Amino acid sequence: MTNSKETIFDKILAGTIPCHRVYEDAEVLAFLDVNPISFGHTLVIPKQRAAFLHELSEESAAAIGRVLPRICRAVMQATGAKAYNVLQNNGASAHQAVFHVHFHVIPRLADSGLGIDWTPTVLAPEIAAELVEKIRASLAER
Ligand code: AMP
Repeated sequence: MTNSKETIFDKILAGTIPCHRVYEDAEVLAFLDVNPISFGHTLVIPKQRAAFLHELSEESAAAIGRVLPRICRAVMQATGAKAYNVLQNNGASAHQAVFHVHFHVIPRLADSGLGIDWTPTVLAPEIAAELVEKIRASLAER
């Protein structure tokens, strides 16, 4: 399930390849995406090496949670965007290309931003009940 191999983000963290750094603390680094889909597209990553969000320690997750809103505010202020998306992909089939946890902060501007293919369905009550039971049981395991 996991892939803890070195990625290009480890090289950025180690300083062996450059990045356009906007923020750094003991547990988090943020830098501009090298192939932005909109002006100001920024990546926020934990220093902990983990491929997927569900593998992240609570400490790393908390460190990202603490700073993410502040980085979003700064990116909005710098770009003048009034709207944005935060995107976090897990798994190749979910569009993940770099297997080190990262959050995209993507300003929505008039002509650019995140395109979303969103096809809502209706949640059937019996399916909801079964799902809730399974998820709660899994959460209760730890
Ligand atoms: P994802 O599809 O969620 O894995 O996105 C990975 C992102 O990392 C893409 O938007 C890339 O443009 C970005 N990226 C890859 N290499 C670098 C790099 N060296 N510096 C900055 N961004 C990068």
